[in-house]
Amino acid sequence: MAFHLHEISGLKLYQFQSLSRLPGVVHAVTTRAGGVSRPPFDSLNLGGEEDDPAALAANRKRLARALGLKRLVWARQVHGTRIVALENGAAPGEADGLATNEPGVGLLIKTADCQALVLAAPAKGVVANLHVGWRGNAAGMPGAGVAFLKKRYGVAPGELHAAIAPGLGACCAQFVNHRNELPEWFYQFRVQGTDRFDLEASTVAQLVAAGVGPERIETSGRCTMCSHEFFSYRRDKVTGRFGTVVALAKEGN
Ligand SMILES: [Zn+2]
Repeated sequence: MAFHLHEISGLKLYQFQSLSRLPGVVHAVTTRAGGVSRPPFDSLNLGGEEDDPAALAANRKRLARALGLKRLVWARQVHGTRIVALENGAAPGEADGLATNEPGVGLLIKTADCQALVLAAPAKGVVANLHVGWRGNAAGMPGAGVAFLKKRYGVAPGELHAAIAPGLGACCAQFVNHRNELPEWFYQFRVQGTDRFDLEASTVAQLVAAGVGPERIETSGRCTMCSHEFFSYRRDKVTGRFGTVVALAKEGN
């Protein structure tokens, strides 16, 4: 079971075991399959903006329909730590985190090696989705997300479920300029004797430090550079973006 594949309306979508068990929470991690974009964006590109805009729009529509969402919302991701609460039709603008308490609004994070980090508190009716690249990771985005949900919606860290979508694994996350790029505290996640880092372990550690129960954190076990099911910027350079989506189910769903 764990992180497992489903075919929904012609799309091959992954789901996390823990999140699929949460009442009222809809989520998915897309693969490259099932879209209309042409190479090198083939085929379900959700954010590589050099692609044909009509193809991008068609892909996003397919995804929203497959998940039964009234709308799909995404931000211009800038590798920062700004998080936006999407209520009453608010537009996200530039942000790397999206949160909502409104049913039917799909929060989309687009990645090709960075992690998407889903946070869900079904009892409070709140979900969030964060873009955690290595910059966001080093800047403390996981903890910022937990703090945001506490402040804005009164969600205690212990109530949260977290899931980390596929990103660069410790097998491939090489940083030849790590001395300039990564902070001192990040060296605990260095793979010994290499210039590779375990970014997923860093995200998990930051969530635990923020008060999320380790047993409530699920990881995908997939590396985007190793697995051709996903877009990978480091592997392919000019390529698309796959998506991680979370939403609260519409009433009556
Ligand atoms: Zn790898």
